[in-house]
Amino acid sequence: MNSPRKSYEKSLLWFRRDLRDFDHAALFHALKYSRQVFCVFVFDREILDTLPRQDRRVEFLLGTVAQLQTALRQHGGELLVVHDVARERIPLLAKQLQVAAVFCNRDYEPAAIARDAAVAGQLQQTGIDFLQYKDQVIFEQDEVLTQANKPFSVFTPYKNAWLKKITAFHVKPYPVDRYAHALASTPAQPLPTLAQLGFEASNLQQLNITPGMSGASQLLQDFLPRIGLYHQSRDFPGVKGVSYLSVHLRFGTTSIRHLAAQAWSGTQPAAGAGHDCWLNELIWRDFYQQILWHFPHVVGHSFKADYANLAFPNDRARFAAWCEARTGYPIVDAAMHQLNHSGYMHNRLRMIVASFLVKDLLIDWRWGEAYFAEKLLDFDLSANNGGWQWAASTGCDAQPYFRIFNPITQSEKFDPKGSFIRRYLPELARLPDRYLHAPWLLPPLLQQQLDFVPGKHYPLPIVDHAVAREQALALFQRNKPSDKQL
Ligand code: FAD
Repeated sequence: MNSPRKSYEKSLLWFRRDLRDFDHAALFHALKYSRQVFCVFVFDREILDTLPRQDRRVEFLLGTVAQLQTALRQHGGELLVVHDVARERIPLLAKQLQVAAVFCNRDYEPAAIARDAAVAGQLQQTGIDFLQYKDQVIFEQDEVLTQANKPFSVFTPYKNAWLKKITAFHVKPYPVDRYAHALASTPAQPLPTLAQLGFEASNLQQLNITPGMSGASQLLQDFLPRIGLYHQSRDFPGVKGVSYLSVHLRFGTTSIRHLAAQAWSGTQPAAGAGHDCWLNELIWRDFYQQILWHFPHVVGHSFKADYANLAFPNDRARFAAWCEARTGYPIVDAAMHQLNHSGYMHNRLRMIVASFLVKDLLIDWRWGEAYFAEKLLDFDLSANNGGWQWAASTGCDAQPYFRIFNPITQSEKFDPKGSFIRRYLPELARLPDRYLHAPWLLPPLLQQQLDFVPGKHYPLPIVDHAVAREQALALFQRNKPSDKQL
C-alpha cells in the first residue's frame, strides 16, 4: 500500500517497532493524508506479561519511548503511552479520539500478524480504516521472488535478485518533517515508570547503552569510519569490528533505508569490500524476514521437514552448564558470559555457541533459541530463528549437518590472542595464549608454576569434541536416511 485512497480529518499513528520521528513510512503517510494525527505507543501486556521481571529490553524501550515523546513534542505533537492489551486498546482509543484511520508499519511475525488482523477487524466494525506500510525492511513479502514466482529459500540467489531490484527509490527517506504540522497537540501525557510496568531495574545503565534515536545515531557515527574494514574485522569478537546496531534495528530507532544507503553504492562504482559485506548482512536480515513471512511454520518447527524429528537426548545438566557458561570450552563460556552480562553476543560467537549446543551437547536447537530469545537485547524472531536453524542444519540454506564447528580451532582462529576470552574469563587470564583455548592441556609443570589446576580453577570440558562430533553425525544420519550419500 502506498497512499490511502482518501484524506482524513483525524488519524491515529500506532508506533510499534519503529520508534523514531524521521524517515518513517506510516508516520509520513498519516501526516500527509490527515489534518490531525494523534500518536500512541502501547506497552503491550500480551508481550510484557510473558517476560522475566528484570528485562533489559523493557528499560531500553522505556528510554526509547521517552526520547520519541520528547521529539514529537518538539514538532508540536504528543505521544500517548499506555500499558494495556494493544489489540483491545487500539480500537478503543481510535473510537474515543474519533479518528477515521489508524496507521502503522507492517510486522511479519505470526503473533503480530494475528494481533493486527484482530485490530483491523474491530476497527472495520466501526468504519475506521487500518492502513499498514512497509518500513522495517527494504523488500518485504512477495517483492523479491524467483523467476517461477516462488519465495527464495537460498540466500545467494535471493541476494542477487535483491541487488538487481534495489534502486535509489528504495532507500529514499520519507520526509516526515514536511508534514509535521499535522501532529495533534494534546496535553502532555505521563510516561509509566519501570515499576508501574511491573519490572525491576536491570544492569542496562551500567552497560553504557544509550537507547533511542540518539543511541542509534551515536553508534552509526562510530561505525561509519570503520565500515571500510568491516569485511576484515567482523569475525573477531575481541575487536571493535561490527556496528552493534542490531538493537536499534529491532526497535526501529534508526531507519533501514538510511543504513542501506550508507552501504549500497547504487549506480556508482562499488564503495568497497567493507561496504558490500555490511550490505550483505542487511540483506540477510531481509532474507530471514521474508522466510518468516512465507514459512511461518519455522516458529517451533524445522524449516526442513526431514529434520522435524531429530531425537536429541536433551540432557538438562548439560543445558544448564551451557546457559551458565560452565562447559569448559573457553570460547563458548566467554560468549555465554557476554550474553548473560550484556544481552549482546557477537555474531561469530552466536554461531559457535549454537553449533556447540546442538552438535556437541546434542540439545534441541529450540532450547537454545528460547534462551537467546529471553536474553538478547536485539532479539528478533526472524533473525534468531534463522540463525539457530542455520547452525542446527535444520533451516533453509543451512550449514550442512556434517559441518561441525570445532570450538578449539574456532577459538584459535577468531580470538588468537585471547583478548575476548580474557575479558570474560579472568580466571584464565594468566594462561599463555597457546593453552587458553583448551586449558585442560596445560602441562603439569606449567600448572604448578601458574597455580592453575584444570577442573579446580576452571571446569574440565563437559564433552570430548571428537566423540560428540561422531554422536552428532550419527544422530543426523539416523534421522535423515536420504542424506546418507552426502
Ligand atoms: P553487524 O555485523 O553490524 O550487522 C548489521 C546488521 O545486519 C545487524 O544489526 C543485523 O540487523 C543484520 N544482521 C547481521 N547478521 C545477520 C544475520 N545473520 N541474520 C540476520 N540479520 C543479520 N540478529 C538479531 O538482530 N537478532 C537476533 O535475535 C539474532 N539472533 C541470532 C542467533 C544466532 C544463533 C545467530 C547465528 C545469529 C543471530 N542474529 C540475530 C544475527 C547476528 O548475529 C546479529 O544481527 C549481529 O550479531 C548483531 O550485531 P551487529 O548489529 O553489530 O551486526
